[in-house]
Amino acid sequence: MFSKYDRMTWRGYKFNRRTVRMLKWAERRSGVPIRIAQGSFNKGGVAASAGTHDGSSVDIKVVHLSTSQRVALIHALKDAGFAAAVRKPPAFGWHIHAIPTGDAQVSPAAAAQIRSYDRHRDMLAGDNYDPTYRPSPKRGYSFLRNRPVRRK
Ligand SMILES: [Zn+2]
Repeated sequence: MFSKYDRMTWRGYKFNRRTVRMLKWAERRSGVPIRIAQGSFNKGGVAASAGTHDGSSVDIKVVHLSTSQRVALIHALKDAGFAAAVRKPPAFGWHIHAIPTGDAQVSPAAAAQIRSYDRHRDMLAGDNYDPTYRPSPKRGYSFLRNRPVRRK
């Protein structure tokens, strides 16, 4: 029997099973192939991530995507139940940073980012307003049904 928190390697990076299902759902929905830049459970791996990748989380490459592909992918990730944002220069190299909501394996720093996202903020230290798309009602992901569901 699979558990949603089983660790696995997907496209060369560590995740739990639920996060992989969420990524696959977003990939199908958007039609944009997902290329990973950083996986989950990467404690101390990338200093700029400030502990958010100690638990469940994912960074996705976007430099090679068109603007419309990038938009389609981030919308699909949010619809899958990720708290997600496009990160760009000069503060970061281009990527999408995404935290699975409703996952008991997120780090404390990542849990704080989900709360920021839910307040329509940018999940960064300044906690600034983020005008980008949020699904309404909020989305989470059911591992058993293998699809997004409403979240409180
Ligand atoms: Zn990240």
